[in-house]
Amino acid sequence: LQEAFLAQKNFIANASHEMRTPLTTISGQLDVLLLRDRTGEEYRTALNSVLEDMHALNRLADRLLQLAQAETQGTVSSFTAVRMDEVVWSARAELMKAEPRYTCEVSIEEVEEEADLMVLGNEMLLRSLIHNLIENACKYAPDHAAHIALKGSGPVVRIAVSDKGPGIATHDLGRIFEPFYRATNTSGTKGHGIGLSLALRIAELHGGGIKVRSVPGEGARFTVRLPKAG
Ligand code: ADP
Repeated sequence: LQEAFLAQKNFIANASHEMRTPLTTISGQLDVLLLRDRTGEEYRTALNSVLEDMHALNRLADRLLQLAQAETQGTVSSFTAVRMDEVVWSARAELMKAEPRYTCEVSIEEVEEEADLMVLGNEMLLRSLIHNLIENACKYAPDHAAHIALKGSGPVVRIAVSDKGPGIATHDLGRIFEPFYRATNTSGTKGHGIGLSLALRIAELHGGGIKVRSVPGEGARFTVRLPKAG
């Protein structure tokens, strides 16, 4: 109980900190902007920068909401049969629409029948899981490209998301699934450190898991394993 209470306290402290940072930047920028009259160009630049911080806040609020939803909607009683190739295609389409410069190839292997792709779950949460992994791959890799391999042999459906980005240092591998943890070699790229903890939580709620392999400097591969329906 003590541990759960501490974890929750830390979570709230971290979430508040993540929100306060862009809010402070926004009010700071507006304060400076209002000190005197500005040119149209100066107003535009400042407003664009404020807008960027607002987008970041919006993304953070979305992620926090998804974490809460995972706990309430990730219950077995509400699960239905879901085809994982459809989840992959729709997560991919959703992301490409928001970020047209991202690319993501999909290959489907070791699938003999529809049952090889079916899992019992919550489609919205599973889409969010895959979305987060493709988004990270494309966000961190300088070529903004991800590759997905979907495999259906054996008792589980496996979805591997790989990239040729900076990879993850060995000492960070054990921590990147913790809420709000961000590895140092990727700190130049924006993020809140929630995506992977959300992805892992969703995989676990479906009786599965996520493994990561990485060679620093060469890329990373995240493999999701979900038990097949039936
Ligand atoms: P965010 O990407 O918002 O920081 P995540 O929880 O999704 O949060 O990821 C946590 C950390 O794991 C990231 O900050 C980054 O350091 C590392 N990471 C995740 N995916 C990758 C990847 N594909 N390549 C390199 N590092 C990654």
